[in-house]
Amino acid sequence: MRSQVGMPPDNHVHTHWSWDTAESSTMRRACEKAIALGLPAIAFTEHLDFTVWDPDDRATDEGLVDRHASRHAEIDVAGYAAELAEVRDRFPELRIWSGVETGEPHLFQSSVAAYLRDAPVDRVLGSLHSLSKDGRLYGVGHLLWEDAEGTMRRYLGELVDMIETSDVFQILAHVDFPRRYWPGTSRRYVEKTFEEEYRAVFRALATTGRALEVNTSSPLASVDQVRWFHEEGGEAVSFGSDAHQPAAVGQRFHLAVDIVEAAGFRPGRDPFDFWRR
Ligand SMILES: [Zn+2]
Ligand SMILES: [Zn+2]
Repeated sequence: MRSQVGMPPDNHVHTHWSWDTAESSTMRRACEKAIALGLPAIAFTEHLDFTVWDPDDRATDEGLVDRHASRHAEIDVAGYAAELAEVRDRFPELRIWSGVETGEPHLFQSSVAAYLRDAPVDRVLGSLHSLSKDGRLYGVGHLLWEDAEGTMRRYLGELVDMIETSDVFQILAHVDFPRRYWPGTSRRYVEKTFEEEYRAVFRALATTGRALEVNTSSPLASVDQVRWFHEEGGEAVSFGSDAHQPAAVGQRFHLAVDIVEAAGFRPGRDPFDFWRR
């Protein structure tokens, strides 16, 4: 199928090299889906999460000892690289980027830097999936049950800290990740309740010129939310399906494109670029 005008790259895709993704989720199948949708490019951003950390990491300074109920596992760097080379060879019509989704990069600066020294990538996403409690890191879904609104405010506050103290990532992934697990279904989540906190995150991100991701696995951002980013000076928007199976690559991108456009952003310099103000 010919490339559709205006369809952006999918900058956030997982395959079986991520610890939470099935063996059947291969790069080849994800590329086939991207091509069928007319996407110009795809980034394989596997989870880079640490369960042990360097003495130099802030997680150590903060006295964190472990992750609660952790299934996190390391990326097989050699296996990942071999499959990436194979699909780049097989699908020359698709631009295929390497990548990682760094979890809590501000807490693991030294560990992330060491990883990327040995295995540099094209795309680095910054994600906050967990918050600390009593010396352990807990997935936010776990914390929401105690205090949803308080956890959300803490989450957005921690994002400002993450943006200000880590420059390793180019794209801020799923800015309101906890809404996926909102008690009583995500439809009860009201963005407006947290407008000031969102705006603080967007200001911090805009100051650094980095891209905000519209994540299409999460409940979709409203036009208002993306416009807050625009109003705070945001320069770039990235689209990410956060697919954990090939069928989800590029999911709901038509809707996401409409939202981002209505908020004041346009396609960038070329089909591979972020969307820009
Ligand atoms: Zn994530
Ligand atoms: Zn992800």
